[in-house]
This record gives sequence, C-alpha cells and structure tokens, in this order.
Amino acid sequence: MIDGRVIKAAYFAAEKHKTQRRKDTEKTPYINHPLALANVLAVECGIDDVEVICGALLHDTIEDTKTTEDELLESFGEQITRIVLEVTDDKTLDKVERKEAQVSHAPHISDQAKLVKLADKISNLRDISASPPFDWSVERKQEYFDWAARVIDGLRGVHPELEALFDQVYSNRPSAEPHSEPESKAAMTPEQLKAKQAEFRRMALKGIREMGPETLANKRS
Ligand code: NDP
Ligand code: ZN
Repeated sequence: MIDGRVIKAAYFAAEKHKTQRRKDTEKTPYINHPLALANVLAVECGIDDVEVICGALLHDTIEDTKTTEDELLESFGEQITRIVLEVTDDKTLDKVERKEAQVSHAPHISDQAKLVKLADKISNLRDISASPPFDWSVERKQEYFDWAARVIDGLRGVHPELEALFDQVYSNRPSAEPHSEPESKAAMTPEQLKAKQAEFRRMALKGIREMGPETLANKRS
C-alpha cells in the first residue's frame, strides 16, 4: 500500500519547483533532483522511512522556493518539517559561510536528516559528473567534490551502504584536464606544426574579412 504522504510530497515539490531548472546545459527540470534523492534512498538503498523520503522530496522547498515552515507544518507535520529545516541553509550567511556551516552542522543533525544530506550530496556529485553546471571549470568541480566529502565525513556512521555509495560516486572526482596545446605541439612533426600555424592564420584572416572594416572599427572604439 502506497503511503499518500509520499505522493503528496512529490506533488507539493513539483508545484513549488515548477518554474525552476537545474544548472546543467540541458536545463533539466528542478524536480528531477528531489526525485533523484528519493530514488537513491528508497530504491537504491531500500530505506522505507516515509518521513525520510518525504524530507528528501521536500528538501529544497524552503531553501529554493517561497515555501514557508508553516506551510510544511500544516501539510506534513512536525517530523518531516524538522528534517527539511535541518538540511536548509541559512541564507542570511554569505556563500562561503554557508558552505562552512554545512560542514560544522552535519555531525549534529538527526539521523533522518543525515540520510537526506547523504542522498543530496550523492545526487549532486552524480550531476557534476554527468551533467555539470554549464560554466564550471574542473577546479570548481573538484572543489565541490572535496567540500561535499568534508560534509559527509562529519556525519558518517549512520548508514554504511549509503556512505559506501557516496564513496563510490566520489571516486569519479574529475581530474585536471590535460593541457592540450603543448602536448599536441610536442606530438607534431615540424611540418605538421607549420601546417597548423598556416591554418590558424587563414582562419584568423577569414574571420577579419567576414567581420568587415566597420565591425572592426566598432570593436576598437
Ligand atoms: P554552489 O557551489 O552552491 O552550486 C552548487 C549547487 O547548485 C549544488 O549544491 C546544487 O544545490 C545546485 N545545482 C544545480 N544544478 C546542479 C548541477 N547540474 N550539478 C550540481 N549541482 C547543481 O554554487 P554557488 O554559485 O552558490 O557557489 C558557492 C561557492 O562556490 C562559494 O563558496 C564560492 O566561493 C565558490 N565559487 C567558486 C568558484 C571557482 O571557480 N572555484 C567560482 C565561484 C564561486 P542543491 O542541492 O541545493 O540543488
Ligand atoms: Zn538538493
């Protein structure tokens, strides 16, 4: 028998996030993210605590939409609202402080909130590996992986299977992109290098011709 609270939470979150998109190139609908958390917990790890699943579905409603604590209390009661509040960042802090606050708070939140936090970080690391924010450098992705690991290291001991899943996802931490130019230059014969340089010159001249003198003048001014 399906517990109606799960469907109610999924529907509530879908309504609240309906105009939002994730930061990836495809602008994935935001609701895919809370659903991914619920899937990690219930399907991948067999967690059947309805309050935790509802907390996961609702986890970004206060932080990222106009949803209030009272609204959650009225629709979902105290326990689920408490879980959501425990994983909600304090937006009065600046971004760096918020990141540090997650690290220092993680050990002190309830076990139910720790499960949601684990699923959130698993989902975000997977997203960064498969469909990252469109403008992130490798260094920024690495920073995020390392910060997420600091948060999770502070709450370990709550669910070994979920923690192992986090470690597995963390093992895909992006590595530095090879610096392509010197390597490809080194791999070229002098003739190939000359041909490549001539090709660049042709492309540059073609670009200048296509822009026309007027555009060039505008660019300079
Ligand atoms: P965040 O680092 O907070 O962005 C990541 C968050 O975006 C995730 O936690 C997730 O939050 C959400 N998100 C949405 N789409 C995706 C996706 N496709 N993949 C992964 N996560 C997604 O970004 P901010 O811009 O808020 O920056 C915060 C920090 O980053 C600051 O500390 C700042 O100093 C630092 N920074 C670093 C830079 C660098 O180049 N190194 C440049 C700029 C900032 P949720 O789970 O809530 O959906
Ligand atoms: Zn989230």
